[in-house]
Amino acid sequence: MGRKTRNEKAPLARQPVTCKKVLRMNNHTVIRDELLKAMTFYRELGFEFLPSKEEVIHTLIAGITTKNEKGSEPCNQVAESPGAYMVNKKQALDALRDEIGDCQRCRLSNGRKNIVFGEGSVDADIMFVGEGPGRDEDIQARPFVGTAGKLLTNLIVKLGIKRDEVYIANIVKCRPPGNRNPEEDEISTCIPFVARQIEIIQPRVIVCLGRIAAQALLKTGKPISRLRGDFLDFNGIAVMPTFHPAYLLRNPKDKWLTWEDMQKVLEKLKNIAEQ
Ligand code: SF4
Repeated sequence: MGRKTRNEKAPLARQPVTCKKVLRMNNHTVIRDELLKAMTFYRELGFEFLPSKEEVIHTLIAGITTKNEKGSEPCNQVAESPGAYMVNKKQALDALRDEIGDCQRCRLSNGRKNIVFGEGSVDADIMFVGEGPGRDEDIQARPFVGTAGKLLTNLIVKLGIKRDEVYIANIVKCRPPGNRNPEEDEISTCIPFVARQIEIIQPRVIVCLGRIAAQALLKTGKPISRLRGDFLDFNGIAVMPTFHPAYLLRNPKDKWLTWEDMQKVLEKLKNIAEQ
């Protein structure tokens, strides 16, 4: 999948474009002060993936100053450098992983081998959210790598997308014993982490894999058979619930329904890109 302009999806990331104004001042001290003010402002608003670390700010300031001195490139080329924001998203995800640490916040910590944080492109258009790690995922500390994971990977590839172009995570990050469903209190304890991943990555579409993920994210009790196939909303992001790959392994006749759901996802991405 080619990259698209992302102006409408990361307004906070575009905010440093205020440096256009400060560049006109042609004064390095003012540039630095204005940048620091802007960073502080957005940090106080609660944004966590702005380049708020001191060294990153200095890097930005240095880049802007250099470009300004050369007088050859407009400041907004620095502000709109996708690489800069990807670094920030990666930093934010790394910080979230650090915050989770060796989590003991719920009883699922007792039987796990590894926390399965999630993986994929920090700039993914599609984010898949499953319910929780299984045996293989627990061993490898990676999401969807078992038999069901292979089915998911095949589905992604058949859509013309590489697996590492999407982001994959789960509602709970530790394997429930015996692959039972995660319980309500376990979900409510862990779900803020996937919500933060979504907030950082800002995918254009979230695909909920299976009932547990869809009900947890969408805060509904409706069965997956009624939820799937229509777009719903999570914090302004389109959500397509569909069947879990493990269900599809047991019920291959329903694979075409998930294929249909994914076609709608591709159509949605196309429409967003054309807007
Ligand atoms: S499932 Fe989530 S909340 Fe529970 S121990 Fe694992 S990381 Fe912590």
